[in-house]
Amino acid sequence: MTVEATSREPTGIPKNPGRAELGLRATLLFPNREIVEQYYVPLIYTACRTCYSELEPDEIFRRAEGGEIEVAKMQRLISNVIESGHGSTIEHVVFTFGISGVSRTLSHQLVRHRAGVAFDQQSQRYVTFKKAATMLPQTIAEADPDVRERYEEQIEGAMSLYGDLVGAGIPGEDARFVFPNATRTNLVMTTNLRALIHMSGLRLCTMAQWEIRRLFQLIRHEIFSVSPFLGAFLAPKCVPLGYCDEMNNRDGHCPIRPHKDRVLEAWAEKAQAARAAGKELKVNQPAS
Ligand SMILES: Cc1cc2nc3c(=O)[nH]c(=O)nc-3n(C[C@H](O)[C@H](O)[C@H](O)COP(=O)(O)OP(=O)(O)OC[C@H]3O[C@@H](n4cnc5c(N)ncnc54)[C@H](O)[C@@H]3O)c2cc1C
Repeated sequence: MTVEATSREPTGIPKNPGRAELGLRATLLFPNREIVEQYYVPLIYTACRTCYSELEPDEIFRRAEGGEIEVAKMQRLISNVIESGHGSTIEHVVFTFGISGVSRTLSHQLVRHRAGVAFDQQSQRYVTFKKAATMLPQTIAEADPDVRERYEEQIEGAMSLYGDLVGAGIPGEDARFVFPNATRTNLVMTTNLRALIHMSGLRLCTMAQWEIRRLFQLIRHEIFSVSPFLGAFLAPKCVPLGYCDEMNNRDGHCPIRPHKDRVLEAWAEKAQAARAAGKELKVNQPAS
């Protein structure tokens, strides 16, 4: 059998459940708005300023926290330092989230983050579930009714077998082997700001899986509610980069930022035009 070569269709932004209610939640447990305003911005400012000042950190912090330094001035320095990649300065503040109703598919991705983040997750050993909840992906919810029915039968079958196994005296830690990836779970996640920006960069990207992307949209909303200034740093990674570096977006279907291949092509064309005109393009020359 011969396989016909087909030109690659634009992939389109992955099917996203849009605003559908997924039953997952992210709640910022700590800190509240007052703590962020009173301490977080002054703390980060103190970390930044200590690098460039003869003053001792406790004096810088006293001035910052006591209102002697304008908030806008603190924010300006913090923005510049973050944009320059001086990331340790934002490791001094942490955020703790209660995350509930997410699938094990999501939690397995989430706990892959290692640096600057701590997790505690509901145990499937110590909790014997009376009725474990599951997540229904939107594509399956909207699929052909036969397909959806078969999916639901499988899930219900697994859950019912779990109950039978536990009823037959099988320990929960073994009965859980029948649980599907769709099984919902709860976690507490504490992360410093640097790790949170990094994770958001990956997980708010349209290439991220829809459920974890939704989680980080909720997380960003929570941070915005205590600090619009800090919340603004939570963005898909292409936003601070200025270009998209995702291989799967070479066709440019996600329009947030141009793919780096296009940026390099544009640069090569400009360099060629400059050479044809007998000039050499300087590396730091604006592309316009
Ligand atoms: C769209 C998408 C698709 C993915 N697909 C897959 C997949 O198919 N299979 C799969 O296995 N995983 C996959 N992953 C997971 C991915 O490979 C990472 O494991 C995950 O995103 C955690 O990110 P991180 O490595 O940046 O770790 P973090 O812990 O968040 O680390 C933050 C940063 O710290 C540095 N760092 C941390 N630990 C070390 C270390 N030990 N050594 C050196 N530097 C370190 C790195 O710069 C790292 O980026 C995917 C992730 C995304 C976003």
